[in-house]
Amino acid sequence: MRYNHVNENVISQLIEICGKRNVLTRDFHLISYASDFYKPSPKTMPEVVVLPEKSSQISEVVKVANTNRIPLTPVGGLTGISGGAIPKFGGVVMDLRKLDKIIEIDTENMHVTCEAGITCSKLAYEVEKKGFLPPHFPASRYAATIGGSIASGGIDGRQMVQGSLGDRVSSLKVVLPDGEIIKVGGGVAGKTEKTSTGPPLKWLFVGSFGVLGVIVEATMKLYPKPEASESVLVAFNKVDNALKVAIEIKRKNIPVTCLTIWDKVAISTHKKMKYGPAIPDADALLLTDFEGPKEICTLLRQKILNICHKQNGYEINKRVIQFISGYGADFYSAIAGTGKGGWGAIDMCIPLGKVNEALNSFYRVLSKYEIEPLGALILKLNPTYIDFFYRVHDEKNRLKYTEAVKEMYSAGLKFGGSLSHGMGVKVDAKDLLITELGESLNILKKIKKVLDPYNIMNPGMLP
Ligand SMILES: Cc1cc2nc3c(=O)[nH]c(=O)nc-3n(C[C@H](O)[C@H](O)[C@H](O)COP(=O)(O)OP(=O)(O)OC[C@H]3O[C@@H](n4cnc5c(N)ncnc54)[C@H](O)[C@@H]3O)c2cc1C
Repeated sequence: MRYNHVNENVISQLIEICGKRNVLTRDFHLISYASDFYKPSPKTMPEVVVLPEKSSQISEVVKVANTNRIPLTPVGGLTGISGGAIPKFGGVVMDLRKLDKIIEIDTENMHVTCEAGITCSKLAYEVEKKGFLPPHFPASRYAATIGGSIASGGIDGRQMVQGSLGDRVSSLKVVLPDGEIIKVGGGVAGKTEKTSTGPPLKWLFVGSFGVLGVIVEATMKLYPKPEASESVLVAFNKVDNALKVAIEIKRKNIPVTCLTIWDKVAISTHKKMKYGPAIPDADALLLTDFEGPKEICTLLRQKILNICHKQNGYEINKRVIQFISGYGADFYSAIAGTGKGGWGAIDMCIPLGKVNEALNSFYRVLSKYEIEPLGALILKLNPTYIDFFYRVHDEKNRLKYTEAVKEMYSAGLKFGGSLSHGMGVKVDAKDLLITELGESLNILKKIKKVLDPYNIMNPGMLP
């Protein structure tokens, strides 16, 4: 597909729609939109950035891009780690962060409706004041937007009890690539969690990475805060023993909110921090979070500890949990604060029984490419996925990291899981999508062609 460049005429139209202060054309503005958190980044500059303030402006901007055959990339907080927000073909970047209002907190029907550009932390703050849990609480919450998170198929530490962010979405308002504004899901008021009036179209946009339209508004389920929540941190001499505990928790269907295992390398990354001496020297640490009425928490705690003891695990002082919590963002501080350069990560879904083998193969690949490993966090049970982190020292040597990522992806796929659980497939490795999706990739391309015949929406994401 050939695209046109943004010319003076297009800029004037964008200014007319969004106002002069909401149209950026100077290099020092554009450069901040050339990359997201993906490293090493291909860094492609947009030609113009627009910051619409309402849905009607979004619709008009999309129409301008569509009529002029100019690529358009919607962006939120630019925290994505797979390159989804990079304007791979230049064109227009649409920054959604001025759409940051909460439209309604419906305490009776337990739903919140907000604009797509609100950060997850601001949304969390507002709903928590009314006694509810955040609809989405990722480690990147201070910058990540709710629209960007829905578009990335986001996940947080409550997925095992409340499903992923996509499950919590009842309805969405979306601007399609031709500028039409539609609502999908949720019955008439958008707050019905489940209907049987046709295939649930919201799922077209959950995890769509901006290729099918711009999410402008979301209505999500709210859950009340539990009476009590607790965590147990247990150390093991072998990662295998921690994995055996995970398997038993799964088999016994013990209702944990989240389960996280740090491997030895991840533990040593934590130990380099100032709080390091508080972290035990172990080969694996397992954190289980659970909640509910107090007496249920006491019971769950004892059950989990009994399973851990059978695998020679020993409980760690509760004080340490403040430094080491799965979605508490502290591992990201540790990897950012303990070495030079940036970091990258893959988040592959791997069947629980194959995690150890998959991990070994990931470490072998990093060693082959002489890339420093930063450790693995093995998370959850349905599905289990591995957040596998590595240092990116040498931003200029993109090929080396791309090859390594592709090798890890290929090795991981052999175990039968998925390339990504919640962060998307790296743009440089998108040719591997066919290996997982097979024929269904063609269906996706056909849907894309119907909705976006000129392929203006975030081109370069699909192979
Ligand atoms: C330190 C750190 C911790 C993280 N922790 C988590 C975590 O706990 N859970 C998790 O799921 N992810 C996590 N991530 C990954 C990332 O933060 C999430 O994917 C995040 O939700 C992306 O939101 P964003 O607003 O930054 O989107 P962006 O990075 O700006 O965009 C992501 C993708 O969505 C598209 N997009 C953005 N807004 C819209 C919209 N309104 N409509 C349509 N498409 C849109 C973009 O084109 C792009 O393809 C983490 C990342 C970092 C750097």
